[in-house]
Amino acid sequence: MDLLHSQLATLQQRLSFVATDPIDWKFYVQACSWAVTLFESYLLVRQYPLYSKTEPPAVLARHFDKEAFRKSQIYGKDKAQFSLVTGLLKQAIDSALLQYGFYAWGWEVGGKLIGRFGYGSDYEIMQSLAFTAVLSMVSSIISIPLSVYQTFVLEEKHGFNKTTPSLFITDLLKGWMLAFAIGGPFLSLFLYVFEWAGDRFVPWLMAFLLVFSFQIIMVIVYPTIIQPLFNKLSPLPAGDLRSRTETLAAKLKFPLKHLYEIDGSKRSSHSNAYFFGLPWSKHIVIFDTLIKESKPEEVEAVLAHELGHWYHMHPTKLLCISQVHIFTILALFPAFLHAPQFIRAFDFSKLVSSRPPTIVAFLMFQMVLTPLEAVVGIALNFISRQFEWEADHFACELQDRLNAPEMADMGERLGRALITLHVKNLSTVWVDWLYSAYHHSHPTLTERLKALQSFQSTRNADEKKEL
Ligand SMILES: [Zn+2]
Repeated sequence: MDLLHSQLATLQQRLSFVATDPIDWKFYVQACSWAVTLFESYLLVRQYPLYSKTEPPAVLARHFDKEAFRKSQIYGKDKAQFSLVTGLLKQAIDSALLQYGFYAWGWEVGGKLIGRFGYGSDYEIMQSLAFTAVLSMVSSIISIPLSVYQTFVLEEKHGFNKTTPSLFITDLLKGWMLAFAIGGPFLSLFLYVFEWAGDRFVPWLMAFLLVFSFQIIMVIVYPTIIQPLFNKLSPLPAGDLRSRTETLAAKLKFPLKHLYEIDGSKRSSHSNAYFFGLPWSKHIVIFDTLIKESKPEEVEAVLAHELGHWYHMHPTKLLCISQVHIFTILALFPAFLHAPQFIRAFDFSKLVSSRPPTIVAFLMFQMVLTPLEAVVGIALNFISRQFEWEADHFACELQDRLNAPEMADMGERLGRALITLHVKNLSTVWVDWLYSAYHHSHPTLTERLKALQSFQSTRNADEKKEL
């Protein structure tokens, strides 16, 4: 532990310029956030002409009828226009808020709010909660109209929206309730660990985040409280799909506890499948839309892919990567926390800046990290794609791994299921490589189908050789 702390102290010394050099941090944040937004707009401009193509890629030609392809192109075009406008609009608003001292104002308002209940500025955690509430309120004012447009105009136009206005409002209220019930205690504890551990907060916060975010939220709270608030999980009825899934899980020694069907179609027709749970007790959830649109043997192939993620421990690997990411952020943070002039650059008063509140410093520090986070996003997408290839490969290999000749066509079945999902979701089929590298955590459909086919043909060739 001491070695860790001395390494961290050396890092802080290297970063001591944050507290001493006159850097125009506000200008830096403005420049970086605009650079990222403009880059994202440039990607959309690269992608946009592809929506005007009149024919699908060759591998897909026989699966898409003309009408479905035309629809997917129009849907893609509409979504791209929406993203371009909202991206620029949000950036313009954020930029104006930053420029005119909105965050400093929010902190003052938070102080006044708790002042009404008789708490002074030495109640930092309480003021931080009020500050966060003010910030989320303002960001809701901006995001709600956009989300209404997206749901009731854009998705509606293309036949995906199943959300009614009352469902939309109850979802919104439930979301706020959750933010209040979980976000509030989380933030308080987070800030408390900072206060309590002082400059040795890095390992303590890491432990706290790991336990809180992973164990408590993902494993216990999400499936038992959050998910049922929004969707209904019901046990998958007995039948072909159920027995196929159970057999597959048993053969792979996947610790399947419950098998659910989820009413994803309540809100939207987009569909999929996933698993969750503790290492020794897992649950599989399949969307009702997937079950409706694909044959049981195709859904089985989708599940084989999902179990590939489990077999190769992809969720655990992603968790480790995110821990390294969080560690890096936390290790860099103290240099910014102990730099009054850093906070001062964002229009906070001399008094506030002299003892920077943790939440404020952390928020501003995250803005400084914008360009770094964009790069991390690309790297994470790259890794996630590798995992997708691996899971697809796993599904194709099951025939050998389980010595099950009836699974010889698993790759083909997976391909068919992916195509159905794609066609039903009107997903884009022509994708610019740079756009895809930045935005997509999954390989494109064309890439995946090609890989599935080439797996099959290599395998066939190998078999011939053996004969
Ligand atoms: Zn996957």
